[in-house]
Amino acid sequence: MKVFKFGGASVKDASGIKNLANIVSNEKDNLVIVVSAFGKTTNALEKLLKSWIAGDKDYTEHLEDIYSYHSKVSDELFPSANSAKSNLDISFTRLKEYLATAEKSEYDYEYDQVVSYGEIWSTLIVAEYLKMSGLKSEWVDIRDNLVTDDRYRDANILWSESSNRIKTVFDFKRFTIYVTQGFIGGTVTGISTTLGREGSDFTAAILANILDAECVVVWKDVPGVLNADPKWLTDARKLEEMSYREAVEMTFSGAKVIHPKTIKPLHNKNIPLYVKSFLAPEENGTLITAEPTLKEIMPVFIRKEKQILFSILPKDFSFVMVDNLSRIFHSFLIHGIKVNLVEASAVSIDVCVDDDRPKVDILLADLKNEYSAIYNENVEMLSVRHYTPEAIERITKGRDILLEQRTRSTVRFVVRQ
Ligand code: ADP
Ligand code: ASP
Ligand code: MG
Repeated sequence: MKVFKFGGASVKDASGIKNLANIVSNEKDNLVIVVSAFGKTTNALEKLLKSWIAGDKDYTEHLEDIYSYHSKVSDELFPSANSAKSNLDISFTRLKEYLATAEKSEYDYEYDQVVSYGEIWSTLIVAEYLKMSGLKSEWVDIRDNLVTDDRYRDANILWSESSNRIKTVFDFKRFTIYVTQGFIGGTVTGISTTLGREGSDFTAAILANILDAECVVVWKDVPGVLNADPKWLTDARKLEEMSYREAVEMTFSGAKVIHPKTIKPLHNKNIPLYVKSFLAPEENGTLITAEPTLKEIMPVFIRKEKQILFSILPKDFSFVMVDNLSRIFHSFLIHGIKVNLVEASAVSIDVCVDDDRPKVDILLADLKNEYSAIYNENVEMLSVRHYTPEAIERITKGRDILLEQRTRSTVRFVVRQ
């Protein structure tokens, strides 16, 4: 069996779903299809959540907009009343009731209860459309099978429990295709959780690992993994093949084409990952494996926007490399802040992190008795793998460089945005 993952861009409208059905119907193998929320629905749900939390009555308008969007897609796909439409209505009503009656709890918990609906709606429609197209497919609620802890908004997978459930449910006895949700999971007690933004690629890799898939294909709006985001550098070139190692380095540095957590579950079972274009499904895309046969080395450019650069200094002027390092990183860990770059000197440590404001402020408050911190906001991190002088010149020319770090294979710059 194979795992196919379709992201928001591939299912943003009725014609995207028809295209998905076409790609799927050309596949002979059994399939698990992991689908994200339609288009920018997750962003829309985040907006709705913010206005609901702020006590703004207008949140109902956001919900109406999201409902109309889904109804329109469904109306275009299905000629008459059908179970997708009625299940969609039931699900929207459930969310509406939740928002009208729930006692508001903490943000991360509410986020997962509300934002997880996007993937439920998209998969209800996609699964029904595949059935209507004559494919033997079944909708699976992944929240009952992908079991996580209750670290809301960044839940950790409970592998052994998930593995038992997933192997039982995705058994291909009666169906050749299962349609399920990316990005979301559920606790052992059945509370919805999410795995972090863009987490559907990760879901695909988890399912592939547990079910020993032959391969994973993530269908994107780009021809494959390119040596830069084509929205940033328009002359970006496709990489035919790359290693897991290269993919991890690239995605961890900020290449948004695949979620960084995707690679480990695939590497652990040596499962190949294809990144292919849903616009040109017959083309090769990029193949990611342990040992690529093609060893093309070209500079790869990565931009990570919306960063903050901190300098953290022990107030007592003690060496940072001794006890302070573990104290500081422990604090990052418990506040759930991922470190993108670290540079240490004798009595200070520079750290570049995502600008996730409430979290960063809480971290600073936690450190403030023992450390002073200065920070630069509105910065971005530029990385070049397999750098050359020309490649560096290309992206740093005219930029105000705040920090530079070089290893044999990668150079990183933190620059003002
Ligand atoms: P999905 O629809 O699966 O969520 P994403 O939008 O998350 O897909 O990922 C695809 C996008 O990733 C592309 O539209 C492209 O702008 C961006 N991207 C960033 N870096 C790269 C890269 N190195 N190669 C290809 N695409 C990239
Ligand atoms: N819908 C989620 C998001 O937009 C997950 C995903 O697309 O991977 O972040
Ligand atoms: Mg995405």
